[in-house]
Amino acid sequence: MTVRKQTVLIIDADILVKLCQPDYYKAWMFKALFEDPWNKVVIPEIATKEWKLSKDKKFTEFHDQIINPLEKAKKISSTFRSLKERKNFEDSLNKLIKFRKREFYYTFGRKFEFIDYRINRDLVTQPQLTTRSKSIIADLALNKERPFFCSADLKNNDEKFEVKDAYGFFSAIDYAKSLRKNDENIDIYFITEKTENYSDFSNKSKLHENLAPYFEELNIQYSINLKGILLKLNPLIDSSEKDEMMQANKYLQDQYFIDCKNKDCDGEVHLKVDCYWGNFGFWFAECPKCKYEWRTNDRIEDDYN
Ligand SMILES: [Zn+2]
Repeated sequence: MTVRKQTVLIIDADILVKLCQPDYYKAWMFKALFEDPWNKVVIPEIATKEWKLSKDKKFTEFHDQIINPLEKAKKISSTFRSLKERKNFEDSLNKLIKFRKREFYYTFGRKFEFIDYRINRDLVTQPQLTTRSKSIIADLALNKERPFFCSADLKNNDEKFEVKDAYGFFSAIDYAKSLRKNDENIDIYFITEKTENYSDFSNKSKLHENLAPYFEELNIQYSINLKGILLKLNPLIDSSEKDEMMQANKYLQDQYFIDCKNKDCDGEVHLKVDCYWGNFGFWFAECPKCKYEWRTNDRIEDDYN
């Protein structure tokens, strides 16, 4: 077995959202990032705040991207002259919408939940900014120093005031400083795709020259390529995979679902994913939509298959 080095991966807010975005990163990357014991994921506190503010909006946005075109298609059912044909078309579409919703929820929706759970339960390190760094940022802002700040100029460049990213960057530095005191040998990466706020103007994979000395001093590596890093850290990883939602499909058939027992909710519960063994040997179900919980009539020995 190869012994690997412990690696710290400091993730920016944009990467968190992209990890839950359909057709952006592959599922193996999510697993490699969070489940590989050699990787320690660190999220600056400012990035977790951004996550909390934007996650619900992003969830709805990604959901609607998949579902809305199908809902729209329903509107053309009037093209069918025959009532029977129209009904068949609508029934098929409704079935498809139900499936796509399930697919979305049990793949990307679960990722939202996973990240949220880790952040809310402090299962991931969330470094804060030191007072010293706050005053450095204040100076950079006053002097309109690039890349986080700049004043509007004659070339129609707008004023720039990216305090949140400056906070994330310097939180990474503060955290790396505390690590380097004890361990010089650890690998530290800072990963973002917001190149417009961190990178060199002509070479996006390079950190901006005003920021580079901070990372050089602490030997932090700047990266805009999460996939490349994960493959470099574990070249043996299985990165071959087909469409994630299609893969989940066989576990999303009707036989795996029951309707939520809360009469005010139209949600459904997955018998494998949303049920757990409870007291007295019974299965309990929890609706992911309304969080209503109830005891099912099945005992543990009637394992759902
Ligand atoms: Zn419910």
